Amino acid sequence: MDDEDFRAALSQETPRLLRLATRLTPPEVDQEDLFQDVLERAWKSRSGFRQGSKLSTWLHSIMVNRATDLARRSTAAPAQVPDTDPDVYAIDIRDPALVAERAADSAALRAALSRLPPEDRTVLVLGDGEDMKADEVAVLMGISTEAVYKRLQRGRLRLAGELDRATGLPLEERPPETCRQARLHVSAYLDDRLDSTIKVEVDEHLRECSRCPPLVQAVVGLKEALGVHPETEIPPGLSSAVDERARRYG
Ligand SMILES: [Zn+2]
Repeated sequence: MDDEDFRAALSQETPRLLRLATRLTPPEVDQEDLFQDVLERAWKSRSGFRQGSKLSTWLHSIMVNRATDLARRSTAAPAQVPDTDPDVYAIDIRDPALVAERAADSAALRAALSRLPPEDRTVLVLGDGEDMKADEVAVLMGISTEAVYKRLQRGRLRLAGELDRATGLPLEERPPETCRQARLHVSAYLDDRLDSTIKVEVDEHLRECSRCPPLVQAVVGLKEALGVHPETEIPPGLSSAVDERARRYG
């Protein structure tokens, strides 16, 4: 790809990169600065882009790395949560409609996403937000596909909890073990990745349980909200940024 084609391809990716910059960083990070930074890095290392691979994936990986660095340095960064965190399966959702409503508000969504562990956030934003397949996300993040599914599972439940918790109501007592067992499979259930025996068990549980259906509904709502991309407004001046970078470094 010659410089002219590369420049044109970068321009095309602008809305998506800005969206990623917003969703992958805490509210105090200026997404335009991050966007410019990623653009600059992409331009400088354009010779490293392999012909035949997807430019969007390559740019996403630069963006994800930079955003993760910034989020880690943020004062609001959540403490590292161990992989086996059991509390995520104890999250009860009181109002799934409210979760969907808040998820549709990009500022509220960004704030809630910023409170997740960085890897969970990245998997959610790329998987549910950009509709990337789990194996593509795995390659981009340098983790296994199985790890992507695990993070997707926990990330969805955590994000639902974050968006619901803002109601300020007291947390109810922990759900019983049968709920926990069903919740382990909720994410795969919604992605239709369960084998039929387990699917039947989850269906049965959801018919009998009063606490899990609102959680499932909330996850469905936030998956939808993550997949909606309101027209990204490119701030004035930023649309010419690609050309500027090219002139400066080309
Ligand atoms: Zn239940």
